[in-house]
Amino acid sequence: MFNPPDIFNAFIPPQITLMGPGPSQVHPRVLNALARPTIGHLDPEFVRCMDEIKHLLQYAFQTKSALTLAVSGPGTAGMETCVANLLEPGDTAVVCINGVFGKRIQAMVERCGATAICIEQVWGEAVNPELVAQTLNAHPEASVLAFVHAETSTGALSDAQTLAAIARSYDCLSLVDTVTSLGGVPLFVDEWGLDAVYSGTQKCLSAPPGLSPLTFSARAQQRLKQRKKPVQSWFLDLSLVMDYWGQGQQRSYHHTAPVNSLYALHEALLMLKEEGLKNAWERHYTNHRQLRAGLEALGLSFVVDPSCRLPQLNTVWIPRHCDDRAVRDELLKNHALEIGGGLGGFAGKAWRIGLMGYSSRTQVVDYCLAALSQVA
Ligand code: PLP
Repeated sequence: MFNPPDIFNAFIPPQITLMGPGPSQVHPRVLNALARPTIGHLDPEFVRCMDEIKHLLQYAFQTKSALTLAVSGPGTAGMETCVANLLEPGDTAVVCINGVFGKRIQAMVERCGATAICIEQVWGEAVNPELVAQTLNAHPEASVLAFVHAETSTGALSDAQTLAAIARSYDCLSLVDTVTSLGGVPLFVDEWGLDAVYSGTQKCLSAPPGLSPLTFSARAQQRLKQRKKPVQSWFLDLSLVMDYWGQGQQRSYHHTAPVNSLYALHEALLMLKEEGLKNAWERHYTNHRQLRAGLEALGLSFVVDPSCRLPQLNTVWIPRHCDDRAVRDELLKNHALEIGGGLGGFAGKAWRIGLMGYSSRTQVVDYCLAALSQVA
């Protein structure tokens, strides 16, 4: 029989101040919710918890859509759910790529057997509505426009309302990544006419990673009904998932939901409701302004133009005299502080400093600036 070595004990993670691109700090209230007793995933009380999560997510997304739920999987699972349900082999999607996550959508579109028409832009820029309109005009066969609202790899915010309106005018559905935007910056799914929208729990909602809030508009639901073939992924097929998340007590088993993670999401959403969406957005901006002033005073400059800069994800160029890895290691080792390195083309060139959810507090900003002034 194979036995692991006798050296293992309970895993006690270090206490780290999380100021990277996610996960963000989780509030003690949410951690406590996670530790509540596990009950059956079809227990009527758990069904009530799921119903409340749906209502609270409708508030967070600002939508009345009944197809609003949390996919059992991280943000990437939400992304794949949207792509796999909206597209079939032979379909065409226009995909906006201004960072890592647009590229990931492209890969998923192609794995569905659909064609991705890509609009590639310089990293750090917002998605350009004119380019989108030109591309949709040149590709009348496209049925979906996909873009990332808040690109975490660069810190750029795109104008989701304008992009969705352009998509609609070309009879396309909008597929929108709100993993980093939900709860951090204004997002009005119904008012802006967004169609297939997914997010993550580990950014501005400050719940543990591993769930993906998602909502589909009536137009997107109509597209599901018009599919010629079943969704290739059984697990992510929304027509099946909805039998589990549907209205009322009549639920049928689809998979065993991550019960405790859903308690945590419920608590995090409740906290967002108590604070109020507008206050949460304002808090993210206020703390961003404080951080920005401090970073600029340290001589650091921002990658993204102020016109499209995310408050919850601050990307700055690494000064020439600094060694990226050495600085981040020292912050972690001596200050128990995590900031993010650059992704893709920004690796070794930029730092990403997150101010998301419970990490977006004035004390956290002060702590980060004091540590950086010693290290960088
Ligand atoms: N989309 C964006 C914009 C993200 O920032 C991330 C994660 O950082 C994802 C998608 C993927 O989410 P996850 O890592 O939870 O799968």
